[in-house]
Amino acid sequence: MTRAEAQRELLWAPRAWIDGRWQERVLLRVGADGHWAEIAPDTPVPPQAEVLGAAVLPGLVDAHSHAFQRAFAGLSERREHEHDDFWSWRERMYRVALRITPQQLQAVAAQLYAELLRGGYTQVCEFHYLQHRSDGRPYDDPAALSWELADAAAEVGIGLTLLPVLYERAGFALPELRDDQRRFATHDHSVRALQRAVQAGRRPLLNSGVAIHSLRAAAPASIARLLDGLGDMPVHIHVAEQTAEVDDCLKATGQRPIEWLATHTALDARWQLVHATHATQAEIDAVARSGAGVVICPSTEANLGDGLTDIPAWLHAGVPLAIGSDSHVTRDWREELRWLEYGQRLQLRQRNVVAAPAQGQPSSAARLLGRALGAGGRAAGFARWGLMAGARADLLVIDSADDALLGVPDERLLDALVFSSPGGPFRDVLVAGRWAVRDGRVTAPVTVGARFAEAMQQLWSGA
Ligand code: ZN
Repeated sequence: MTRAEAQRELLWAPRAWIDGRWQERVLLRVGADGHWAEIAPDTPVPPQAEVLGAAVLPGLVDAHSHAFQRAFAGLSERREHEHDDFWSWRERMYRVALRITPQQLQAVAAQLYAELLRGGYTQVCEFHYLQHRSDGRPYDDPAALSWELADAAAEVGIGLTLLPVLYERAGFALPELRDDQRRFATHDHSVRALQRAVQAGRRPLLNSGVAIHSLRAAAPASIARLLDGLGDMPVHIHVAEQTAEVDDCLKATGQRPIEWLATHTALDARWQLVHATHATQAEIDAVARSGAGVVICPSTEANLGDGLTDIPAWLHAGVPLAIGSDSHVTRDWREELRWLEYGQRLQLRQRNVVAAPAQGQPSSAARLLGRALGAGGRAAGFARWGLMAGARADLLVIDSADDALLGVPDERLLDALVFSSPGGPFRDVLVAGRWAVRDGRVTAPVTVGARFAEAMQQLWSGA
């Protein structure tokens, strides 16, 4: 083994976030498979190790993404009519979805994934429903747009979980899609075929699962066929983002969406209920019994005026709680965690709502990070996630020279990282044993920014 190879395999950090707390003088050894072979606190620096100059954290999973919506971030912040809500936002979002080309999608996704890496995510779950040509005809390869996303992720070095989406109707009482939803049309068999195609590609850092757009957009019989014999893979669904869809579900089925799922499907640990925003205590208890997880997207839910979910109740019930950046109005998990807590503070007029000092967890940031880490790994289909032997060798090196962290005592570093903003990008990001970000910059020799700017110009010229 050459000295350079040895250096790539052995890392040493002055402190690392392991098992929910800071541990000191940590040796981290990357195995040949890109997973952690060994993580050993209280170890002196071995002579051949690369010494990381600052504290390290595990990478996080961004458990809910629609990459194309990055082309839309910041561009729906003007009210055009008397009333503006989720549904009028969706009309505008469809206009982008209808005209984006494969090349533009690739450029937008590469930019997004580079930003997510710098924001501390090392894996992203793509809830992928943009499947067909602008006129609704399938591409020659039905997975063409899946490969654009996979290429974008591979280019910048982020892990990707592709979730082709079952999307077949416009509402509970509307058996067809609307014309402006023509690029999304799938059936249970085509979703299964897309998932198999992605899996058969056997690309590094790419895995797959399936998704159901929502109960309003998929018939019960199709959902049953999609799940039949599916095997062990993530199953994601938009579940209760808007009160209007809860009301529609009640009208059509007599049950609320989470209630319906808990009754009519075998909810289990594969399931991820995205935007479990409007949930009753009985629904929260049913999810907890099932082993399913929830995915909350605080910045997008705030941006779209969705409402606030009862975070303390989900935490108390022990439900895995992952985070997603969804429409990508922010692309940094610190901001998502901050807003998880701030929403509760604003509503309850209290502070440190999610902290649990009686359980030895006085830090809001630590409790949220702990939950989001494991839950995110599960949402992406990983049995192990974080700084532990057997998990993929991902980590984030904190920039200790960041203004937000200057002079902060070591044991309060995570609190300041989440609640003293703005923070800069993570200094270095390791994915599967390779440096994807160094000194705040993506290491891949790519022209991501220029391609993105060009795509944006094409998409928005004359808008
Ligand atoms: Zn979504």
